[in-house]
Amino acid sequence: MKNFAYSRVSSAEEAVDRSTRDHNALYIAGGTNLVDRLKAFLDEPNQLLDISRLEMKRIESTSNGGLKIGALVTNTDLANHTEVRRQYPMLSRAILSGASQQIRNMATVGGNLMQRTRCSYYYDTAFACNKRQPNTGCPAINGVNRTHAILGASESCVAVNPSDMSVALAALDAIVEVQGEQSQREISFADFHRLPGDTPNRDTHLEPGELITAVILPPLSFARSGVYLKLRDRASYAFALVSVAAVLDLSGEQIRNARIALGGVAHKPWRASEAEAFLQGKTANQSTFEQAADIALQDAQPLLYNGFKVDLSKRAIRRALAVSARGGGIA
Ligand code: SF4
Repeated sequence: MKNFAYSRVSSAEEAVDRSTRDHNALYIAGGTNLVDRLKAFLDEPNQLLDISRLEMKRIESTSNGGLKIGALVTNTDLANHTEVRRQYPMLSRAILSGASQQIRNMATVGGNLMQRTRCSYYYDTAFACNKRQPNTGCPAINGVNRTHAILGASESCVAVNPSDMSVALAALDAIVEVQGEQSQREISFADFHRLPGDTPNRDTHLEPGELITAVILPPLSFARSGVYLKLRDRASYAFALVSVAAVLDLSGEQIRNARIALGGVAHKPWRASEAEAFLQGKTANQSTFEQAADIALQDAQPLLYNGFKVDLSKRAIRRALAVSARGGGIA
């Protein structure tokens, strides 16, 4: 680990001001991903700006019936919040499926959105990596790529976003509130994370210095039957091979609306918009779910070792939709 300066900031504005003046500064809160990266020489900041004492730890109801979640709310507090469990159970389940209790106690909402891929080549500085060092190459494309992307990848990077929470937030159309140098702005969740393109070193659309201050969940009347299904190599403390956040809005057996997001398959939480559009107005049955799953994966481009993810994703979608159609619960 390279030496760095450390200091606490007393406001979001101070944090942004200091970060904007030093582009080699990084924010730290829970540190559950950043400290690993520091120890592996992946990040070598001049200074760490500790934002962990800022007043961004509340979960509040919004005037339209949604929730505003401070960026420093811990994963544990968010997953166990009464209204999150009641209104957005897929979010609670997604969070509880990730990491360990100890890590969830430290990890924050903002940090979860900012965590970086767990591509093993990215973490091993003996290998080239376009995400770590632009224009050096991507050994994963022709290497051991069993856990890598099948959707939205590029010739520069085939890494996946590791977050469970973000998959549920994508399905719920969350909004990310950020503090910039001049003002605050809101970013729709679909526009927050990036596909790799030819600049995989950038994971998000945040501008230099911008700080996540909150995540806003709009009200969603049918979210209570939402499902999060995570498939992985072992039952706990493992990243998703494939995950699905899904929910159906039913009128009798007819589907009024659907939300489907996939994790473990792309550089960002992958919203299956075409499958959602297909489901509107259809009868909720196994045949419909199979067709929706096929549509969701029609553009998949598997690599040498991750072809199994295509079928696994389809099965996960079918299962999640069927459970949501029955009213939700554990998939
Ligand atoms: Fe690096 Fe992306 Fe290639 Fe992994 S997949 S080695 S993160 S460029």
